[in-house]
Amino acid sequence: MNEMSLKFLSKSENEVFARNAVAAFVLPMNPTLDELSDVKTAVSEAVTNCIVHAYRGKSGWITLTCRSDENRLHIEISDDGAGIEDVDRALEPFFTTLESEERSGMGFTIMQSFMDEFSVTSAAGKGTKVTMCKNFAAGASNAG
Ligand code: ATP
Ligand code: MG
Repeated sequence: MNEMSLKFLSKSENEVFARNAVAAFVLPMNPTLDELSDVKTAVSEAVTNCIVHAYRGKSGWITLTCRSDENRLHIEISDDGAGIEDVDRALEPFFTTLESEERSGMGFTIMQSFMDEFSVTSAAGKGTKVTMCKNFAAGASNAG
């Protein structure tokens, strides 16, 4: 078991920071390149959502927590921003509240398809938490 937690500001460059921090954390779990890429993409989507939707260009804290247990990675990404009024609707493919900025509304759908478990809790005006899990195929036996 290993665990880490990071807190960083909602600046666009921190999307790259967050995805590479998670990549560094999971490296000892010996993920395949596909698994690593899936996790990095899901983290990027979740962090981007905090930056563009939760804080809408203002500065705010994003918290990222990772926990590894055997071959399983657990990730939580949370913000104290705008929150989501209707989570079920937000999860629908192609649903976006930022059409004007040419968002495709696919972030949550990507997270759901790239990770093995996915859930969102949110309170309007308070913030949002995305929880995701990924099971790595062979774990330490991929080493070599
Ligand atoms: P894309 O991810 O394809 O660029 P998108 O961000 O609009 O577009 P999703 O990531 O699927 O699409 O998110 C759907 C909607 O859920 C967003 O348009 C936004 O209204 C809401 N949302 C998602 N994450 C957050 C968040 N952290 N805080 C507030 N609202 C959010
Ligand atoms: Mg998005």
